[in-house]
Amino acid sequence: MAAKKAAESFSKAAVDEVHRWGAMKQNGVSLRYMMEFGSRPMERNLLISAQFLHKELPVRIARRAIELESLPFGLSQKTAVLKVRDWYLDSFHDIRSFPEIKDMSDELAFTRMIKMIKVRHNNVVPTMALGVQQLKKELDPKIFPRDLEEIHQFLDRFYLSRIGIRMLIGQHVALHDPDPEPGCVGLISTRLSPMQMARAASEDARSICLREYGSAPEIDIYGDPSFTFPYVPSHLHLMVFELVKNSLRAVQERFMDSDKEPPPVRIIVTDGLEDVTIKISDEGGGIARSGLSKIFTYLYSTATNPLDESYEGVTEGVTMAGYGCGLPISRLYARYFGGDLQIISMEGYGTDAYLHLSRLGDSQEPLP
Ligand code: ATP
Ligand code: MG
Repeated sequence: MAAKKAAESFSKAAVDEVHRWGAMKQNGVSLRYMMEFGSRPMERNLLISAQFLHKELPVRIARRAIELESLPFGLSQKTAVLKVRDWYLDSFHDIRSFPEIKDMSDELAFTRMIKMIKVRHNNVVPTMALGVQQLKKELDPKIFPRDLEEIHQFLDRFYLSRIGIRMLIGQHVALHDPDPEPGCVGLISTRLSPMQMARAASEDARSICLREYGSAPEIDIYGDPSFTFPYVPSHLHLMVFELVKNSLRAVQERFMDSDKEPPPVRIIVTDGLEDVTIKISDEGGGIARSGLSKIFTYLYSTATNPLDESYEGVTEGVTMAGYGCGLPISRLYARYFGGDLQIISMEGYGTDAYLHLSRLGDSQEPLP
């Protein structure tokens, strides 16, 4: 099997090398720094950025590879987890065997390589979810609460680190775009309109809802349409999309068989001095208090899991719900740039999600 082969092909020296790098200090950057640095993407800056990544990525990747080997309850031995670990080891090896970056031709080759590494890791989240699920099936349900907590904390660190690695690679690659969109610095939009983004993400969520249920509740969005702030559009899209999907599903399920019109989901965008806050409110019946503590754990979902069926690679296409990762992952994206996500529920009525995004962009990347 591929997983086993990779483990054998890594010699003792290679394992030591991973541990040596995994013990080094990680260096975080801030949104503001990425923006200022990237606004002058001359060759010299690209070279500096590549040299930084050449040193920084192996440190971050090695940490994750090491942690993947020592998970509780034999999780590390699950086929899916071994596969993920091998992606990390392969990527570590690819970067470490790349020679010193001296000129622009080295820089281009390095950029091509890290772009490929990003693709290699595309399916980490569902693959890890599958691994945890494999474990969950075997384990005595009685020992679950405590040990899930440990696994949950690991996944929080693991995915937060993954967001950072992908942001750094994505940003570096995007700075090579010869014809960037106006107002964009790599992946960052310096003038992102949260209203506009909320509208786009809402439409995307609604079309999935329409596809799955045949109808979708309306979504009303309130706020200042001319307000903009610097943020990463793809991150904001992902978070609002996940929250709106949850709301639409709740409202849809609650009103599907009723003669009443489903009440609209309401999105309010506000711009404070510190935070931009996006509140997403629905009348989908809320979440019971006993379930509230679980909604931010991975794999807690009240929907049927798309992984339950035969697993061959990863299910294509987006569904309304199913993995149980939507909320915890969205919260990590918010926290990555110094924001946060809170869910308040009134059982029997509905749910409010508060998405706080830090406006200043000064906070350093959290580095688990
Ligand atoms: P996916 O990974 O596809 O998002 P999911 O939607 O089940 O799957 P989460 O988004 O993390 O996973 O949500 C976890 C659970 O929390 C949901 O299954 C649902 O039971 C509950 N939940 C989340 N948002 C709402 C909401 N607005 N109203 C009612 N229940 C909700
Ligand atoms: Mg969801």
